[in-house]
Amino acid sequence: MSDKTYLITPGPTPIPPEVAAAMAAPLIHHRSPEFKRLLVETLAGLGRVFATADPVLMFAGSGTSAMESAVSNLLAPGDRALVASAGNFGERWVKIIEAYGLRPQHLAQRWGERLDPQRIAERADGCVAVYVTHSETSTGVVHDVRAIAEALRPTGATLVVDAVSSLGGVELATEAWGVDVVVSGSQKALMTPPGLAFASVSERAWGLAARGGLPRFTLDWAATRDAQAASNTAFTPPVTLVAGLNAAISMLVREGLETAWQRNRRLALAAREGAKAIGLDLFSPDDESSAMVTAVRMPAEIDGQTVYALLRDRYGVVLAGGQGPLRGRVIRIGHMGYMNEFDIVTALSALEMALAELGHLAPAPGAGAARAVDVFSRLEAARV
Ligand code: PMP
Repeated sequence: MSDKTYLITPGPTPIPPEVAAAMAAPLIHHRSPEFKRLLVETLAGLGRVFATADPVLMFAGSGTSAMESAVSNLLAPGDRALVASAGNFGERWVKIIEAYGLRPQHLAQRWGERLDPQRIAERADGCVAVYVTHSETSTGVVHDVRAIAEALRPTGATLVVDAVSSLGGVELATEAWGVDVVVSGSQKALMTPPGLAFASVSERAWGLAARGGLPRFTLDWAATRDAQAASNTAFTPPVTLVAGLNAAISMLVREGLETAWQRNRRLALAAREGAKAIGLDLFSPDDESSAMVTAVRMPAEIDGQTVYALLRDRYGVVLAGGQGPLRGRVIRIGHMGYMNEFDIVTALSALEMALAELGHLAPAPGAGAARAVDVFSRLEAARV
């Protein structure tokens, strides 16, 4: 059992020391002027990350809370809504909508495919809202939200995007691309512990929300917006997490969002090349569209869950296993959030060692790490 842990997962992701330090400060009261200042600054920072001037609502809860809010606030009984999915988190939209008693249309593409904007637009006819995923964490595919928004424009449907595992790590130009609602959570590219959820809401989406129709209380958008407009929160917020998030956003802004996206692409490239050098096939696309998560197929004779447990228990390296039909078949390396080159080298080395223990030998010892180092060195050389 290793007592040093390396969290190289698609969430929760490691917390930078600056974020941990911000959360270690003495607790402040949520109705104090200090908290109001913190809240205003954090919401302004979120607006930059969400790339929108629309209000970004903040809730206590995990990312799924924000997803749920985008169902309970937007839809009314009898509405037609479309979900387009190609993985576990896309399918979650269906489950949430059904939990509210509605029956969405479901364009279910195969897990691992890219969502098809034209098919979505064809199926969206007569739908008030369309629900999609940006980074499908279960497969590693980052869907082309810009193209989906463009294809949907003539339909007039409100577009809702789950950006829980993409926001801050890959471009999402909410307002410029015409995305109505973007939901996200604190624990992935935003480098903060789990527990905060967000939703940006466009004017068109506010129009739908104003109809009411489905029950909501703690996740009520209007109550949240009105409180935030008065530099306040509707309920007691997780003050400590807000302090952490503010520090994390400052770091992101300091690094520059585009630099952070570029960092993700570099890490993803090295992860892909390293995995292939170990003799493994990729499940996620072998291109820049898998910038947040690399899903690596396991050799047929090896159970991915055994690899996952061995990595965690023997090496202290926490990667992620497969979900749903991919359980046991893939291992996922997360490169979002507070990650750098050496996290990828560590992940590849540990994966190679665990697989060797289970009988899959890389072409040469250290092949994965060597390839990753080579990729980083070439990218570095190309930069100067
Ligand atoms: N959507 C996506 C794309 C995710 O990756 C996750 C978390 N893995 C969720 C939704 C759910 O978020 P949470 O677990 O914070 O509720």
